[in-house]
Amino acid sequence: MKISIVGTGYVGLVTGTCFADTGVNVTCVDIDEKKINNLKKGIVPIYEPGLETMIKNNVEKGRLHFSTSLKESLDQAEVIFIAVGTPPGEDGSADLSYVLAVASEIGRHMTQSIVVVTKSTVPIGTSKKVRAAVKAELDKRNADIPFYVASNPEFLKEGNAIDDFLKPDRIVVGTDSEDAEKVIRRLYKPFLLNNHPILFMDIPSAELTKYAANSMLATKISFMNDIANLCELVGADVNMVRKGIGSDSRIGNKFIYPGIGYGGSCFPKDVKAIIRTANSYNYPLRLLEAVENVNEDQKKIMAAKVKNYFNNDIKGKTIALWGLSFKPNTDDMREAPSKVIIKELVEAGAKIKAYDPVAMDEAKKEVEDSITYGQDPYDVLIDADALLLLTEWPEFRIPNYKVMSKLMNHKVVFDGRNIYDMNEMNENGFDYFGIGRSQKE
Ligand code: NAD
Repeated sequence: MKISIVGTGYVGLVTGTCFADTGVNVTCVDIDEKKINNLKKGIVPIYEPGLETMIKNNVEKGRLHFSTSLKESLDQAEVIFIAVGTPPGEDGSADLSYVLAVASEIGRHMTQSIVVVTKSTVPIGTSKKVRAAVKAELDKRNADIPFYVASNPEFLKEGNAIDDFLKPDRIVVGTDSEDAEKVIRRLYKPFLLNNHPILFMDIPSAELTKYAANSMLATKISFMNDIANLCELVGADVNMVRKGIGSDSRIGNKFIYPGIGYGGSCFPKDVKAIIRTANSYNYPLRLLEAVENVNEDQKKIMAAKVKNYFNNDIKGKTIALWGLSFKPNTDDMREAPSKVIIKELVEAGAKIKAYDPVAMDEAKKEVEDSITYGQDPYDVLIDADALLLLTEWPEFRIPNYKVMSKLMNHKVVFDGRNIYDMNEMNENGFDYFGIGRSQKE
């Protein structure tokens, strides 16, 4: 079987590599020449655990190819996946220009029947637009070639993408074509072993499923952040409350950790997009509007705690940051809460020294030039007036208090992910502030 994946980003590259690993002949296509040339040389553009080795293996076996030519990739391909970006437009709705540009290109160049699968996260109705864009190009050249469309939203998580793809909780496919269903079922068969389900449904339901899933997850985060903030006011510990509610099987204990707000390339934009879609049907999604508001405020909470601790004067203070990416095991800085925190602190006159195991190169492209970067976690603590833990990378889990005490100017830790034990911190002479946990009197 031969397939093509258009858009070689976090989703396209992982998808293509995982399909190649099952013996399928895959071409990953991108318009970014540098990215494709690098991939041809074995340079992987993103950090994703396990991906580099898997790419190398499949390239060596001759099953995984990289190209800038969508036209060439179509040759004998049975399925083409669209996995390009769908960033938010100015009004919050998903920008479909990349997806539709690819659909038109498919229509311009296809020479045999093909299944066009949209894997990008797209609003309801997009598959219709994809079908129309392909058809319009076929009509222009009087070509009567049958083709089928399907929506196959992706649920992988950056940082755990390969495992998520290989062992999915579920695969969702929307299509109205039996031919498409047959081909897609065959393609995904290797991933269905051990009872991983594939759910076929109508196209609008598949398109909405992705937004509903991300919105539900964002809701859990904002809910816990709201509860955490209340915990601080009433003298409760959100860790206890979390365990208390999580043990109710109707609630469950996953994804109910408070923190510094959700970020990344998906939750913020998908929550915005579904709100926008609902508004276009004159149905305000009041709950999700609140989820967004809570999140915006939560991103500012760490900076507020720091300012409060230093009596609203952090001018000239040196603040060390551990972690920059929006979550561990990724270099993705898109919508990372760290960017908001850095902005707030810099605007108040603080000097920032940051360390992240893999995201510093990405951060350098996106954040204030004025911040400096360290070689390792302890490097940034030299003369620091405070430490902020922003991303819970494993290497930050067990800090060396002796070294920290020696290096830091002032012993205070603000823990944006609640990974440290408050008692242990206090015993080692550190003032400690987490999220949703009141300070000891
Ligand atoms: P990305 O920005 O990492 O990659 C998109 C790629 O598409 C880029 O390399 C870009 O150069 C390429 N591209 C743009 N126009 C193109 C064209 N006309 N032809 C060929 N290539 C083109 O994006 P991503 O994070 O992989 O996300 C892709 C889609 O998947 C989005 O809709 C996103 O919402 C969705 N998604 C992302 C994740 C995630 O964790 N990143 C998870 C699930 C779903």
